[in-house]
Amino acid sequence: MTPPTTPSWKLPMALAAALCAGAVLGWLAGGRVATGIAVVAVAEVVLLLTRIRHQAQAMMTTPTAASPLQHDRFMTRSRRIASSLRDLRNAASQLPDAVVLLDRQQQIRWFNHAAENLLGLRRPDDRGAPLQQRMAGSELASWLREGAREPLTDATAPGRADSQLNVSLLPFGDHEQLLLAHDISHQNRLEQVRRDFVANVSHELRTPLTVIHGYLELLDPEDVPELAPVLGEMRTQSKRMGQIVEDLLTLSRLETQHEVAEERVPMAALLATVRKEAEALSQGRHRIVLEATAEADLLGSPKDLHSALSNLASNAVRYTPVGGSITIRWQRVPDGAVYSVSDTGFGIPASHLVRLTERFYRVSSSRSRESGGTGLGLSIVKHVLNLHQAQLKIESAPGVGSTFACHFGVARLLAPGGSDES
Ligand code: ADP
Repeated sequence: MTPPTTPSWKLPMALAAALCAGAVLGWLAGGRVATGIAVVAVAEVVLLLTRIRHQAQAMMTTPTAASPLQHDRFMTRSRRIASSLRDLRNAASQLPDAVVLLDRQQQIRWFNHAAENLLGLRRPDDRGAPLQQRMAGSELASWLREGAREPLTDATAPGRADSQLNVSLLPFGDHEQLLLAHDISHQNRLEQVRRDFVANVSHELRTPLTVIHGYLELLDPEDVPELAPVLGEMRTQSKRMGQIVEDLLTLSRLETQHEVAEERVPMAALLATVRKEAEALSQGRHRIVLEATAEADLLGSPKDLHSALSNLASNAVRYTPVGGSITIRWQRVPDGAVYSVSDTGFGIPASHLVRLTERFYRVSSSRSRESGGTGLGLSIVKHVLNLHQAQLKIESAPGVGSTFACHFGVARLLAPGGSDES
């Protein structure tokens, strides 16, 4: 009995459906539609090639059994598969992301047009060439040499110096790999426009606000008692606006900065200042404790670290009801030292924790405004810590309290007072 033949429309439909599924999965995994399509397209190419190979083998191993009818069927199927294969290759060729198929020795088997453009690959010369060797001298080559375990972000495109790429290496098939490079230059340009816009607006607002605030300070409420409450409110709001502008300018500076000053930051003095500032803000309404056992100074920017560490302490004061306690700690851990601020305050529901360091993100807007917040403090903290290769960890439970911990690596530690240490 002959096996039933597959209707001619079924295979292309199945391939198209898989491509759509790939697009949807790519989109769900962070808007990477082209990447999803690329992965599925390559998987389909491999699948079709395997199918052709199996059918040809079946024909060759049973030549006597192949009747003219079976032979015709085989030829029809092969043509259909070959045509689907061509379509897929054409589709993959046109993808905006660079796609490079690598064999188990990381030699180039196939690449699309975007790979020529972004990675500078040339055909036919680069077919069979080791990718690492072809990318020599670029960030991509060092990344491949180091094992390419994590995706490479914001790397200069080897084929176009004015473009930046996010690159990932995916294993597939029989120890083969798929290199995907996504051009993020447009995204970076938009981000730059946004940063410039915020910095320019903040800068332009700074002078008029200073003038308004100056005049408001000159007006004495005792001269116009009926306007005293209005004047008080105007002063508070102009001060708040001034603080927002200053915080936005600080954020703009931190965002464009790639390195920090490598100065000694004496921690004993800094911790004493942070504690004093927290006490001034609390005005005796909280119990504030300092536990400093680390006996280490930090290496970095004194101004930025002061701003970040005191921000966490002032948040603890502002978000802890009267009578609560706040503990500031500076402790050694096996791989560095941790500065932390724990409070017995309102706490934060778990669902908010991941978004807390976004600009203007607040758990409760009214509570933040009442306590004089700008919504930018934790954003500044995150940027300062990034510049010092430190990590922020937040633990919190509503109604119980919060702990904000900054983990500094050994490379950022100095022996207090004198000689360097690691
Ligand atoms: P804000 O100026 O509003 O305090 P931040 O960026 O410093 O802005 O903090 C963002 C939000 O995180 C705050 O609005 C507040 O909801 C929450 N938050 C920060 N620190 C604490 C804390 N110690 N306890 C409870 N909530 C906090």
